[in-house]
Amino acid sequence: MYKNLYLKKGKEESLKRYHPWIFSGAIHHIEGEPEEGDVVRVLTSEGDFVAVGHWQIGSIAVRVLDFEDIDVDVEYWEHRLRVAYGMRRAIGVAGCGNGNDTYRLVHGEGDSLPGLVVDVYGQTAVMQAHSIGMHVSRHEIARALVAVTDGAVKNVYYKSETTLPFKAALGQENGFIVGGSAENVAVENGLKFHIDWLKGQKTGFFVDQRDNRSLLERYARGRAVLNMFCYTGGFSVYAMRGGAELVHSVDSSAKAIDLTRANVELNFPGDGRHEAYAEDAFKYLDAMGDKYDLIILDPPAFAKHKDALRQALKGYARLNAKAFDKIKPGGILFTFSCSQVVNKDNFRTAVFTAAAQSGRRVRILHQLHQPADHPVNIYHPEGEYLKGLVLYVE
Ligand code: SAH
Repeated sequence: MYKNLYLKKGKEESLKRYHPWIFSGAIHHIEGEPEEGDVVRVLTSEGDFVAVGHWQIGSIAVRVLDFEDIDVDVEYWEHRLRVAYGMRRAIGVAGCGNGNDTYRLVHGEGDSLPGLVVDVYGQTAVMQAHSIGMHVSRHEIARALVAVTDGAVKNVYYKSETTLPFKAALGQENGFIVGGSAENVAVENGLKFHIDWLKGQKTGFFVDQRDNRSLLERYARGRAVLNMFCYTGGFSVYAMRGGAELVHSVDSSAKAIDLTRANVELNFPGDGRHEAYAEDAFKYLDAMGDKYDLIILDPPAFAKHKDALRQALKGYARLNAKAFDKIKPGGILFTFSCSQVVNKDNFRTAVFTAAAQSGRRVRILHQLHQPADHPVNIYHPEGEYLKGLVLYVE
């Protein structure tokens, strides 16, 4: 039987609108002494049932799993994961034999599974827990992943060393918890990528840029492309397939440059159009001259917390200003922000500031966002994080 958690009077309001977080300040008391990661039943101050969710110490004290009074057991995980997989099949990213076996299968709150992220690369799912409750249930969830994906997922790699709260000291280690495979080449829209789930950032690849990479491919023909913050070279490989005249990839990490080179080689062996440089973005942009007419700026999150917002906006403005200064007339700029705390209006204002500084005529061609396999729960707008603009610079 789950322990009961009582809210302070009136603190159930956001839950009535299905928002899935309960902040610690809203809690009156918990019966008994739950362990971090336990499922608790959330009740109003009058004792009416509201939700069940994972409890842990921290600002977000409960992540709601369900607004019905259910048991969180194997059947529950299977049900939620089946819904998530069914959605990916329905939108054509999973199991469709269309040259794509790379997709996000679980996107936290967007799939009513707060604290859980699962990306699929071929037959291997890489699973990340961001909450202790998901960590506690990792084996059940991993088995359920295999059970509901009709044989598509055979191995589950657990990668939560850096995503779980540090203090919890759970002794979590990265490694396979179901199966095991050394095969790490995944296919995205017919292009091949080595996925470094052992050491790479996030789950090893930025699955969230898939649709935006496809759009870039359509604009690449005959252009001189700069892919700044290239990481695994995703945008570079699409630009090559799109018929770019040359593609230069830049990242400050030498490992990222190795990965980019390997991925370009995997798809376009011996192709002389591509060069990669391990350099700082700002330095490179200052020194690069005006040879590029298609530039991608996909930096890491400049703001991880609300307090850092102002600084982050300055950073985006400074970065984009350099691109506006140098891009050839008639050039196209793909510019992104993946900071969750920077909303799309903030971002657009930062890019506007940079454009105005350059004095050039700039038109918005596309407004981009995260793809459909990174859905936003309508009751949890905080789930929206990736923003992009495609600009035509006269
Ligand atoms: N565009 C990539 C994802 C970019 S992730 C994709 O589609 O997969 C952000 C990248 O920026 C990381 O690889 C990181 O190494 C790099 N980076 C961080 N700070 C940098 C800097 N100052 N200059 C250049 N690259 C930087």
